[in-house]
Parts: sequence; C-alpha cells; structure tokens
Amino acid sequence: ASAPTGVREDNSITLADGRVVRLSLNADDAETIREHGLHHRVSVGLFRTEFLYLRDTSLLFDEKRSVAAYGEVMRAAGQDGSVTFRLLDVDEDKFSAHFFTKPGNRGLRGADYYRAEPEIFHAQIRSLFQAAIEHGSGAELRIMAPMMRTPEDWQFVLSALQAEQERSGYEGPFRAGMMVEIPSALFSMERMQHSVDFFSLGTNDLLRYVIGKSRSQPAPDDLYEPAFYRLLFHGMRRIKREVSICGMMGARVEFLPLFLELGVTNFSVPLGAYETVRQRLMSIDPQQRMLRALLRMQSRAEIREALQS
Ligand code: PEP
Ligand code: MG
Repeated sequence: ASAPTGVREDNSITLADGRVVRLSLNADDAETIREHGLHHRVSVGLFRTEFLYLRDTSLLFDEKRSVAAYGEVMRAAGQDGSVTFRLLDVDEDKFSAHFFTKPGNRGLRGADYYRAEPEIFHAQIRSLFQAAIEHGSGAELRIMAPMMRTPEDWQFVLSALQAEQERSGYEGPFRAGMMVEIPSALFSMERMQHSVDFFSLGTNDLLRYVIGKSRSQPAPDDLYEPAFYRLLFHGMRRIKREVSICGMMGARVEFLPLFLELGVTNFSVPLGAYETVRQRLMSIDPQQRMLRALLRMQSRAEIREALQS
C-alpha cells in the first residue's frame, strides 16, 4: 500500500493560546489506519497488538508472519505517519488461551506476564524492530508497555527493548513509553520519567482499579469519582515528559479541558470520535482552570456538575 495522496489534515492542533497538541488514533488493524490516512496525516497513539494475535494466533510464534503483519500496519500509516505499538496486553477483555503456554500463567498481566512468557515477549519485540527495518518509512518507532506497576516492571521492559534494538541493528528513531493504568504507577511516575520517553494514560483500566469494578460494569457516574482525579493529579504534577491519553475519557469532550490542564499533549481516540474531538480542541479555551476546585470536591455529583457546566 502506498501513502495516500491529496490534501490531508495535519494531526497537530494549535490551541487558542498557541500551545500545540496532537490528535491521534486508537486502532486495532491496518484497515482502520488506511481509512483514516485518506484524510489525515496518521499518528496512531495506541495500536492494540493483541488483536492481531487474537485474529491469528499463529503469529505468536511465527516471527516471519508477525513481521509482515507489523509491516502492513507501518505502511498503512504512510510515509509521514507514526504508530505507537502497545506490547501484548493479555487482560480479561482480550483473552486467548493461546497467550499462555502454561495454565498457571493465566491471570498474569504486564511485566509479570512477560517474565513468565519470555518467548512470546521477545518474539514480539524482535518482530517490531525487524518490521521497522524492513517496512518502516523512517518514521519514529514507538513501543509502549501496558499494565506497568513499578519502576522494576518498567526497567525490565526497557532493558529488553534496548537489548533488542541493539541486536537488531535498527538505527531509526525509537521511543519507549509506558501506560499508566494501574494506580500504583502514579506513585512512581516522577521517579520513572528520566527513563521514559512518554506516558500514556489508560483511563479505562485506571478508573476501574480505583473504583474496584470490572470493566464490563461501569456506571455513567463512575467517571466523576473524586479519588480518581486526586490520584491523577498526584501522579502528574511534576511530570516533564510527554503525557498522552488513550483511554476513552480522552474521547469525551467534557473531559478535554481538565486533561489539558493536567498537562496531556496527545489525545488518542477511536476513529468514530476523531472529528468531534478535533472540533472541540480547536475551539476550546485552553486557559480554563478547574483542577484546583475539582480537587476539593467530595462528591461525584459536584464533579459532574463542574465538568459539564
Ligand atoms: C485503557 O485501559 O484505558 C486502555 C486504553 O487500554 P485498553 O482499553 O486496551 O485496556
Ligand atoms: Mg488498559
């Protein structure tokens, strides 16, 4: 597939105060990226690689085919596009028994899973670098790890990425990032930032861990949980690195001013929300300040009211 031609919207948006933010796409397949790329310069802020493997589990142990699959995704993004590949996230909502070589490993996530399934983990990383060498356009290769809980988790993943980058001989630009979607991670973001190129807020999981619900049981009101905002603020107040959001809250316009105030500079949203979020970001008053007041609020009702007004 070649890069789309014609006039395409850039993926950066200049806010009314001159600040520049990026609007990116969440995608699970090359097709969605190609469709989006017809009209936009592509930046994929979250490519959920587990869906490639769910559709074709043979990719798990077949590196040639997985290199081809990642190559297709890279080509779909076009010459000037970039894709943030998320390492295999084996959570309960994207589960396959094929992800586990031993039944005892089921239930492990993030770095615990990578430690327990080193073959799958290393094959994936090797394939990503190899795909960038064979099929990349020279665009930045971005890889991020889900479900990071501690600095040790991150160090484990980062060391594997660095070792593989070196072994592969990949010399293009590379950025390594982590998702922030477990409450514990917010207590060590500051310590980790020196070795992290970017953070990405996974509000879908973060919220459910704060309120103690399963992913399939959210109630509309859960989005206004006071503790959730205090936790986010605590984690992000001294962060100098790029912070993206790829959870669904970033695709809901009522939360955009708050995330801007928190310092988010990259909003990654599903295809269906892209245009609405783009319009809203272009018209938003970036000077709005609501965080201080919000952090003092004790009830969901107060927070809902503040965010919706
Ligand atoms: C999240 O948890 O917010 C996220 C973006 O990842 P996923 O929905 O794939 O768990
Ligand atoms: Mg998640």
